[in-house]
Amino acid sequence: MSNMIYPTTNFKATETLTIERGDGAYVYDNEGNQYLEGLAGLWCTSLGYNNRELIDTAAEQMGKLSYSHMFGGKTHQVGMDLADKLTAMVPVENAKVFFGNSGSDANDSHVKMLRYYFNAIGKPEKFKIIARERSYHGVTVAAASLTGLPPNHTHFSLPFDALGVLRTDAPHYFRGALPGESEAQFVDRIVNNLEQLILKEGADTIAAFIAEPITGASGVIVPPAGYYEKVQAVLNKYDILFWADEVITGFGRTGNDFGCTTVGIEKPALMTLAKQLSSAYMPISASVIRGDMYEAMIEPSSQVGVFGHGYTYSGHPVAAAVSLKTLEIYERDNIFGHAAKVGEYMQKRLGEFRDHPLVGEVRGAGMIGAVEMVSDKKTGAGFEGGAVGYFAMQACQNHGMITRAVAGNSLAFCPPLIVSEAQIDEMVEKLGKALDETLDF
Ligand code: PLP
Repeated sequence: MSNMIYPTTNFKATETLTIERGDGAYVYDNEGNQYLEGLAGLWCTSLGYNNRELIDTAAEQMGKLSYSHMFGGKTHQVGMDLADKLTAMVPVENAKVFFGNSGSDANDSHVKMLRYYFNAIGKPEKFKIIARERSYHGVTVAAASLTGLPPNHTHFSLPFDALGVLRTDAPHYFRGALPGESEAQFVDRIVNNLEQLILKEGADTIAAFIAEPITGASGVIVPPAGYYEKVQAVLNKYDILFWADEVITGFGRTGNDFGCTTVGIEKPALMTLAKQLSSAYMPISASVIRGDMYEAMIEPSSQVGVFGHGYTYSGHPVAAAVSLKTLEIYERDNIFGHAAKVGEYMQKRLGEFRDHPLVGEVRGAGMIGAVEMVSDKKTGAGFEGGAVGYFAMQACQNHGMITRAVAGNSLAFCPPLIVSEAQIDEMVEKLGKALDETLDF
């Protein structure tokens, strides 16, 4: 064992796999074994590994300007170019962007910008944020508090109340519906719960509603039809901002440019981006806000002297250069179009597991999906704990494929966007073997 404190790991577990290098959609361990990357790392290596253009871009930028900060009016061209390119892509009106290093810190930046904005327009009491159960927004103090997964809360004594975190239902029909409830009835019930929550707390105290258009780490939850339309109607009625956390769904992952497009979220006021923004070649994140919010923040920043929020690495030039190149490649090589086509094929192939005796539900959109294992196929009853998921994940690994068990016993799939249909076939074949072996668990 090394002296590392591992992230999101059972400290009693031993190190299981040492990854040494990657190429295309594959990674290789220190004994030379090949693995198909079924999860694109942590849902992020969209252009795969060993992409020459991204490597050369990083090396060139390091040689030219390896670091420069953005405090107090200093800037650099590649950072400004990335800001302009990115804000032209997103569905946020007159978008402005603040750069950070990770999805978590981007969400924390949003929490602070929301407070700054509502203070600026004379509504300091409007600071609470509605977040959903079974959501994942990261692990910094604010982002973990917004996250709706108990394992990310336990033992951390997070400041939910001070942050004003309110919790509402996940749009998870398979796990959340009442007996005999149709999808439409389920949607009406949980949207009504949302409205009741707003009425109880007072709309004047609520700044925003945060949602991953399609969740990732909490099991790839695809909401039933009509959910977001109704949620947006309620939020508009009470003047509450929509905050789309697109850290996983951004950039072609769900069959469209953004998850918002796939599920019908129109013009979110805030959008969080990271991961595929740079194809994970460099750490970088983006907190995007509506132009009018930024405009309102200008005056107070001059009164106090500064907008007092910024990271040493905000807009890091190497990360910015790599991100800019990533976005150019997405466009030039029609990566989103390719991902939409292969993603459709992936959904079809994963759907074949609906007949497998261990599988209760297959969910997904575009090139993100999950296969949920259940103890009783007829009732959909799940397994206690996460041991089955862990076993199946290890079985995939033994067959040369990396994936992750999420939300206990769902196996998640989110390969690099560049994979071919033949590689989807390879993924499905390995998954089939792993599931058959898990039957004997
Ligand atoms: N938001 C969402 C939707 C995520 O899936 C993640 C990470 O998986 C985060 C935020 C946090 O991002 P990071 O791990 O880069 O801090």
